[in-house]
Amino acid sequence: MKPKILLVNPPIYDFAAYDFWLKPHGMLNVAGMLRPIADLYLFDTMDRTAPHFDPEGVIKTTEYNTGPYPFKKIPNPESLKDIPRYFRRYGIPRNVFRDYLSHNGPFDCVLIQTMMTYWYLGYKEVIEDIRTTCPQAKTVLGGFYATACHDHAQSLGADAIIKGDDHEPLWGLLGQKPPAGMHLPAWELYPKLNAATMKLTKGCPFQCSYCYVPQSEETFQTRPIDECLAELKQLVELGVTDIAFYDDALLYQPELTLLPFMQSVIENNIQVNFHTPNALHARYMTADIAKAMVAAGTKTFYLGFESRSEKFHKETGSGKVISDELAKAVEHLRSAGADPQHITAYEMVGHPLADVQQLEPSMRFANSLGIRIMLSDFSPIPGTPDGELCRKYTDLDEPLNHNKTAFPIRFLTFDKVNYYKNLCRKLNRQIKGQNE
Ligand code: SF4
Repeated sequence: MKPKILLVNPPIYDFAAYDFWLKPHGMLNVAGMLRPIADLYLFDTMDRTAPHFDPEGVIKTTEYNTGPYPFKKIPNPESLKDIPRYFRRYGIPRNVFRDYLSHNGPFDCVLIQTMMTYWYLGYKEVIEDIRTTCPQAKTVLGGFYATACHDHAQSLGADAIIKGDDHEPLWGLLGQKPPAGMHLPAWELYPKLNAATMKLTKGCPFQCSYCYVPQSEETFQTRPIDECLAELKQLVELGVTDIAFYDDALLYQPELTLLPFMQSVIENNIQVNFHTPNALHARYMTADIAKAMVAAGTKTFYLGFESRSEKFHKETGSGKVISDELAKAVEHLRSAGADPQHITAYEMVGHPLADVQQLEPSMRFANSLGIRIMLSDFSPIPGTPDGELCRKYTDLDEPLNHNKTAFPIRFLTFDKVNYYKNLCRKLNRQIKGQNE
């Protein structure tokens, strides 16, 4: 008899959370491998299309299927008591998950997707509920927290923890390995699916000192084009209208996968909106790539532009861009027909090298190009050179202190962070006015 395996995307505990095409991509890939050897079930606490997600129909959804999550305010955990913001639990209520377990269990095994290190209260909650409701089920943690905070993850009481792509602990627990070959992610487990994520590449060839990717053992590689097109076909057949690329270096070596992929979308007249929420390297946005991406239906472009200071780029080894490269990328995108209202430059706030970053001039420069700015709050990740710089400001052994709302406030002060956020809103309003 096949084992009965439940996949869980846990709730989020944070000061803020927004559905920016957030899907448990890694777990669905593993589920794809397990498809031939297991009976699979999915409970995605963050699924905006689930009936229990928004029973009263009050949560807004944007034209591209992003939007806020329902939440419940809760007291700040002890280590975040000094942060003057409301702490919340986001996602489908806990009792709905417990009822689901009671009615659909028992399960032999439960896979739990982890993402941000500082969201571990959600992973802990899921393990506790499984222990209480389905005590015989083996629990397995995988994903970013399980990899970057492997030792801390051991304290949550899971039966196995997957580090990176090493799935051996899972195969050991199941007593079998899935067959080799191409496995599409198990997207079919969603009863309804509007938006999904894809990756055309794996890894990243750059070495930004604030990022965990260079610390992982993954080397950059593009995926075979046939596999990517099969995945796209699967998503289109399931009714998906919005696909977000979550590649770390989507524009690198584009002739191998990105360009043929876009060409195939154009030739087959596939009607899907593509999005690029993981910062694109503007340096690699050529006129040809811009044309192909816009013609294939890419609607939103997010460009990494952490700073206009060359010193900052030198010190962080950033693979991102300097001012004239950003300007050129924007020009290519505009010429290709991209809507400037949907071209966004990411700028980091709260980085420990804030004194060389020149955040405000960098924001004003991006604004002068007629594009939007999005501030990405800095999260100090242990093991990265820049994360380690932050040990003198916060206790990194407690993952809640990696929180991206908390660290910039502690490092820059609440007023300074608010100043940048207000400036960002003001500059974006100007751009909206110019484009109307
Ligand atoms: S380019 Fe992006 S993924 Fe690559 S090292 Fe820099 S921040 Fe990380």
